[in-house]
Amino acid sequence: MKNISVQQADRIKKLPPYLFAAIDKMKQEAILEGKDIINLGVGDPDMPTPAPIIERIKKAVEDPRHHQYPSYNGMPSFRQAVSAWYRRRFDATLDPETEVLSLIGSKEGVGHLPLALINPGDTVLMTSPGYPVYQSGTLFAGGKSVTVPLKKENGFLPDLDAIPPDVAKAAKLFFVNYPNNPTAATADKAFFESLIDFADRNQVIICHDAAYTEIYYDGLRPIGFMEVDGAKEVGIELHSLSKTYNMTGWRVGFAVGNRDVLAALGKIKSNLDSGIFQAVQEAGIAALDLDDSLLDVIRKIYQERRDTLVPGLQKLGFQVDLPAAAFYAWIPTPKGVSSSEMTATLLKKTAIVTTPGNGFGDAGEGYIRMTLTVGVERLEEALYRMEKADICG
Ligand SMILES: *Cc1c(COP(=O)(O)O)cnc(C)c1O
Repeated sequence: MKNISVQQADRIKKLPPYLFAAIDKMKQEAILEGKDIINLGVGDPDMPTPAPIIERIKKAVEDPRHHQYPSYNGMPSFRQAVSAWYRRRFDATLDPETEVLSLIGSKEGVGHLPLALINPGDTVLMTSPGYPVYQSGTLFAGGKSVTVPLKKENGFLPDLDAIPPDVAKAAKLFFVNYPNNPTAATADKAFFESLIDFADRNQVIICHDAAYTEIYYDGLRPIGFMEVDGAKEVGIELHSLSKTYNMTGWRVGFAVGNRDVLAALGKIKSNLDSGIFQAVQEAGIAALDLDDSLLDVIRKIYQERRDTLVPGLQKLGFQVDLPAAAFYAWIPTPKGVSSSEMTATLLKKTAIVTTPGNGFGDAGEGYIRMTLTVGVERLEEALYRMEKADICG
């Protein structure tokens, strides 16, 4: 019998341990035992994609012109829709020709960007806690990840002055994300201004991941990076239709901003993928053209959920703040209880799935994350189960 032994590449072996594996296993066991799981673990909207978007793709799939390879950087009409949306939403001007690039979801952009900018050994800054793909993308490009902690006392914004000057000078790229996953913190204009100044002084390219700008509460719209003077000169912003329009399965997003950065990213992409199915881009145009009142309906639903879950947790003694944006609650664990222990206890005693904070980096230890992607009744049920099981902060 013939046989080869498959040795995975070092870059795969170097991936950090998958911290969610243990919880996944426990979740599967609970499902097999027939337990009624309440899943507050995944950041995936439970509501359907709005009807006008579905109607648009139905028509588009029947058009044979969309059956061929799409253009690499996105249909001109899609890029124009992105540019118009940015003008409307952020009062930012983007040239659809050179300052907009389609992405197969923003995760794809995060993963590929280091390949476009980073040489082996180069330093990439990112926050801890943070979206794990910043680190894996950097690793795949041979770069060195350096994390900057997000602390509650700083409003979960990185303290740029605390980054050692030699690290700042060595860095080539800095991933930042507001509204933030997992802390649900938002950035203000002053922070973005100091970030742009930091980038300029240290010659660091900023990649602002803006997946959650449209999920906000109390009518307080978060500021976008591209709204701030100088942003386009120092970096790009990644956006996604996934969270805003309940389209995580569709895989459509875009990068905007600095044309040289986008040209480099486009070069990597044109060698690895062939763009987004044009019918999906048509649906994306329909989404971006939607009246804002439709998003108000979605935001109202998240707000009801937030106003159920977070005060309920506070009543149980947890020191958790109301999120200003995004659909997460970032919850400190009780004294002396680690993130993993807390997650395991919740699953065992209440069949509630949550995400341990340390899965987002070392600085996430001591927190768990719950999502607002289930209905109010289920959140009430979750709170009831916690109370009954005597789980408190
Ligand atoms: C969900 C998420 C993404 C990825 O979104 P897609 O566009 O679906 O790939 C990127 N960044 C953050 C912080 C996210 O939470």
